Amino acid sequence: MPVRVVAATWVLPGPDLPPLRDGAVALDGDRIVDVGPRLVMEAQHGAAERVDAVLLPALVNAHLHLELSHLAGKVPGGRGLVPWIEALVAQRARRDGAIEEGMARGAAALREAGVAAVGDVTNGLGSARHLAREGISGTLFHEVYGFTEARAAEAMRAASEARNRMGPPGPGLRVAPSPHAVYSTHLPAAAALLSAGPASIHLAEVPEERAFVAEASGPFADLVLRLGLDPGALRPFGRSAVGAVSRWLGPGTLVVHAVDLDDLDVATLRASGATVVLCPRSNRHVSGGFPDLPRLLAADIPLAVGTDSLASSPSLSPLEELAVLHQAFPEVSPARLLAMGWNGTAVGAPEVGRLAAGTAPGVLSVPLEGADPIDPFAWLLRAQAPGALSWLARHRPEDRA
Ligand SMILES: [Zn+2]
Repeated sequence: MPVRVVAATWVLPGPDLPPLRDGAVALDGDRIVDVGPRLVMEAQHGAAERVDAVLLPALVNAHLHLELSHLAGKVPGGRGLVPWIEALVAQRARRDGAIEEGMARGAAALREAGVAAVGDVTNGLGSARHLAREGISGTLFHEVYGFTEARAAEAMRAASEARNRMGPPGPGLRVAPSPHAVYSTHLPAAAALLSAGPASIHLAEVPEERAFVAEASGPFADLVLRLGLDPGALRPFGRSAVGAVSRWLGPGTLVVHAVDLDDLDVATLRASGATVVLCPRSNRHVSGGFPDLPRLLAADIPLAVGTDSLASSPSLSPLEELAVLHQAFPEVSPARLLAMGWNGTAVGAPEVGRLAAGTAPGVLSVPLEGADPIDPFAWLLRAQAPGALSWLARHRPEDRA
């Protein structure tokens, strides 16, 4: 196939790489041959097509729950995490048959939002085929919960059987057993899951987790007692939510939310090498909390962005999530924010999020429609979402090295 050269007003090659004004991408099908200034690319690869657009690598949504998509708009927030969870559980129990349709719509919405890789939390593993159909790669975090020892053991056994029945999840997808949270997964089970390899955990989402772990009190204590925990088994098991699991966090762990942190928690996360995934729109909806992004950046903690599910978030778009962080923290460089949306490594898809020769990470084109931004990163994060983006080249998970 002849090499196709596409020149654009701006080309953003990826995190830590300078944006190219009047840049170009040379493509062989969906595979990147070369990226650079237009004049150089034309001299090496032939005349370019011109587009008035920003070209950028496809995006990563590092935390969502595709299988909750049918609950969009059905779980009211603003009363705290425990009431939100109980409302979610009640809605889920109704099983109105819309789950598959919701996942199909959600997966299509991911493609329309320019997402090539995900960290998808699943209880039923049914999201895999919807993601695979849309060409989306990444990790299915197979979530285990059960706060009593017996329930956790039963959940671990059932989850293992479900994975054995499942077969291969799809091109570019892997399955990683994971605990839900410190208030819902028996600690030894959570430890085993976190130690076993890549894993994800909701952690320090709200201050009530700290009260539960450090004092065995607050709304989560009431919740586990309502769910049948023997009151004699309720006792403190750490200095904070982060402290409770710190020994088992590592570079393969995604720590989701990380809103309620003290200085020791921040230092612990930094030392662990874990990646923190921020989902600020979900935090606002559920509890009114918001992550302290500048503090996490100052600590040099690896970061990614996720949307959480449509049950707590208005869309599955990483760009829209980053736009909210941009509004909240205008002092943070827009280029640094975009890098959070290109963290393919965090979800086991390291080729996604960077226009590197020899890979097919997916290339997005966002039309400028006459705009002439000085900072294309800031332009992409405008409060008004950019015009419909399109895929100049699709991500090819089977092309992974
Ligand atoms: Zn979540």
